[in-house]
Amino acid sequence: MTDPSALFPDNPFDYVPLIRSPRGMGRIPEAKAGTKIAIVGAGCAGLCAAWELMKIGLHPVIYEADKNPDNSPRIGGRAYTYRFPGDPKALAELGAMRIPPAHRTVCHYMDRFGIDYGTPFPNPLVVPTTLYVKGKKYFIPAGGPLPGPIRKAAHAWKKLITPPAEQWASARPDQRARQWQDHVEQFKDAGFYEILKKHGLSKTDMDLFGSLGIGTGGFDSMFPISFLDIFRLAALGWETGQRLVKGGVGQIPESFWNTPCPCRHFGQTSVSALNKGRPLGAVTQIQTRPGEKIAVTDIRGQTASYEAVILTCSHRALEMGIKINRDAFSEEVWTAIQNIHMIQSGKIFIRTRQAFWKDLPPESTLNCTITDEAVRGTYLFDFEDTASGVICLSYTWEDSAAKLHGLGERELLDKSLDILKTIYGRDLISDQVEEVKTIFWEQEKGYHGAFKLNYPGQYEDQTALFLQSRPKSPEAANGVFLAGESASFAGGWIEGALQSGLDAAMAVVRKLGGEIFTT
Ligand SMILES: Cc1cc2nc3c(=O)[nH]c(=O)nc-3n(C[C@H](O)[C@H](O)[C@H](O)COP(=O)(O)OP(=O)(O)OC[C@H]3O[C@@H](n4cnc5c(N)ncnc54)[C@H](O)[C@@H]3O)c2cc1C
Repeated sequence: MTDPSALFPDNPFDYVPLIRSPRGMGRIPEAKAGTKIAIVGAGCAGLCAAWELMKIGLHPVIYEADKNPDNSPRIGGRAYTYRFPGDPKALAELGAMRIPPAHRTVCHYMDRFGIDYGTPFPNPLVVPTTLYVKGKKYFIPAGGPLPGPIRKAAHAWKKLITPPAEQWASARPDQRARQWQDHVEQFKDAGFYEILKKHGLSKTDMDLFGSLGIGTGGFDSMFPISFLDIFRLAALGWETGQRLVKGGVGQIPESFWNTPCPCRHFGQTSVSALNKGRPLGAVTQIQTRPGEKIAVTDIRGQTASYEAVILTCSHRALEMGIKINRDAFSEEVWTAIQNIHMIQSGKIFIRTRQAFWKDLPPESTLNCTITDEAVRGTYLFDFEDTASGVICLSYTWEDSAAKLHGLGERELLDKSLDILKTIYGRDLISDQVEEVKTIFWEQEKGYHGAFKLNYPGQYEDQTALFLQSRPKSPEAANGVFLAGESASFAGGWIEGALQSGLDAAMAVVRKLGGEIFTT
C-alpha cells in the first residue's frame, strides 16, 4: 500500500480505506439514526460529506446560495461545468478542470461513479503549443524540446525544486514527517519570488519564468505566494499527468447529489431524494448557544435547529455572507477566516462552430498558447458527440485577472481575439464564434475568490482552519465544523475539498457519540 505521508505530508491520513468500506465510514448510536445535519454549500466538500453521512443513517439537509439562470439552485460550486445554451454538448469548465492522478480521493469517487478521466488534459507541452513572449513566437510540437531561452529557466527551476523534493521523497517512512517539517520551517515564511532570487535567477530569467514558467504557464502571478504552497504541489507531483474529465468535472458533485445507494435507516436513497430534489436557499445566520442546538436561518427567514452544522462555503463567503456569533470559533480561527489569501482568477470561453484546429497541421493553425500578453493562456477542447469546439481564450490569475476587470464581455472577447490575431499573424477565430461565457471568481457573490493559496506567514492560519474540525478543538463542542477547500492543506484542488468534507463528516459522527471505523 502507498505510504499516505508520501501523498499529503501535512495530513498523512489515508482516506481511501475509509470511503471504500461497504459499511460506510463509521457507526452512530441507534437513537441518532435519521438525525438532520445542516450542510451549507452544495459543492464538492458539502456533497461528499452529505453522501457519507447519509450512508451511515444521518439526514443531510443541504443549503445552497448559488442559482442557475432559471433561478433553480445550482449544484457544484467551483466544480462548474457550463453547458453553452446553443449546444449543451459543448462544455466549458469555469472552475476546476484538471485532476492529478496523485489525488486518490477524487479518483476513487470518480471510479465509484463511473466518471471517465482516462484522457490527458490538453495542457501546454502535452499538446502542440505556441509560446509568445516579448513579441517573439515559438512553436513546440507535442512533447517537443523547449526553445533555448525557456530551457534555461526550466533548468534553473529543476535545479531548485529537485534536490529538496528528492530528499523528502527518498526519506524513510519514519523520517518523512520530520523531513517535511524541515521544509515547512524553511519555506513557509518565504515568498516564491524571494526563493527564486536567492537561487540566483537573473532579472531576464525571472521575466521569462514569470511569463512562461517552464512553458506550461507563467509563474509571475504566484510570485507573492508562500513558496511552501508552490513546493508542495511541485514536490508531490500534482502538476504531473493531469487528467481531463470527460463529460465535465461537474459530474463529481452531481453524482454525490443524484446517485442512490444503500443507506442505514433510509434504505436505498440519494442526497437529492432526502432533500426533495432541491437544496434550501442561502444561509444568512448561524447562532450557537452552550448546551443548545445550533440555529440556522436561511434567506427566507426560516430558522431550523441542528445538532451539527458543516460549513463548506469559501472562508470569504462565510465572512461576507453569514452572520455568526463571535464565540462560535476561537480567535485563531477567526483570524484565519479573515486573513487567508484567495487568488483571483478569470476565464473567457467561446463556443466555436467547429473544432476547426483539429484536422489541420498544428504549425498552421491555432493551438494551446502561453504568452505574456493579457490572455496569458489559451486552451482548446473538442468533443466526441458534437462538432462544436470550445476555446478557453484566456485563463488568468491574480493581477492578470484583475487587469481585465474593467472590460465588458464584448470588449474582453475583442481584446482576446486581437491578441491571438497578433500572435498568429491572422484572424483564425472571429468567424467561428457562436457564444461567449466569462467568469471572474472574485466577483462572484458566494465565492469572493477562486481558491486558497497562502501568503508567506499564513501557515499557522492554515493550521488553525485545518484543525478546527479535529476532536480536541474548542469548536468540536458546539458542533459547527468548517470544511471546504480552504480548510485543507490541498486547497485549490477538489482533492482538498473532499478531504475537508470527510474530516467534517467524521467530526459530526464523533459529536453524536458515534465511532469511526479505522479499518
Ligand atoms: C478557476 C478555478 C480553477 C480551478 N482549477 C482546479 C483544477 O484544475 N483542479 C482541481 O482539482 N481543483 C481546481 N479548482 C479548485 C476546486 O474547484 C475547488 O477546490 C473545489 O471545487 C471547492 O469545493 P468546495 O466544496 O470546497 O467549495 P465550493 O465549490 O465553493 O462550494 C461551496 C458552496 O457554498 C455555497 N455557498 C456560499 N455561501 C453560501 C451561503 N451563505 N449559504 C449556502 N450556500 C452558500 C456556494 O454557492 C458553493 O456552491 C479550481 C477552482 C477555480 C475557481
